Amino acid sequence: MKNFRGYNQVGELCRGGRVAPVFWRCEAVLGQLVFDPSGDLFTCFEAAGQDKAKIGRYFPEVEIDAARLQQWTSLNSFESPSCSACRFRFTCASGCPWHIVGQGVTECLPIEEELDLAWNHFAPVLMRRLADQPSNPRAP
Ligand code: SF4
Repeated sequence: MKNFRGYNQVGELCRGGRVAPVFWRCEAVLGQLVFDPSGDLFTCFEAAGQDKAKIGRYFPEVEIDAARLQQWTSLNSFESPSCSACRFRFTCASGCPWHIVGQGVTECLPIEEELDLAWNHFAPVLMRRLADQPSNPRAP
């Protein structure tokens, strides 16, 4: 669980920290370039070598297909069409970009279950922290 974003966000909140919203799922939508041995360019390691995922070439000339690149870079918490109304989008930040680009499907993670587990796990931490706080001097 320690590598899951929702779990870590809740843990940080319960410890009194601040949590930044998540806008991107992975490096594939952030301009990462993957070079394959045949001269093609991709943004995703998983999808390297698959024609649907190709965004250009680096040999013999560098050519990037702007429309194909845009398919990837637009998959974020603000622009992904299937996620724009989802209340978990600033934790989940859209489904796997390769599944969306390659197969046209958004696979939702079990993010709600993850958050529920995290709140249950960190509830004692939160309660201890609240109990240790000095009382509010402005309270009546
Ligand atoms: S849970 Fe599903 S709809 Fe919501 S942000 Fe994640 S992938 Fe998108």
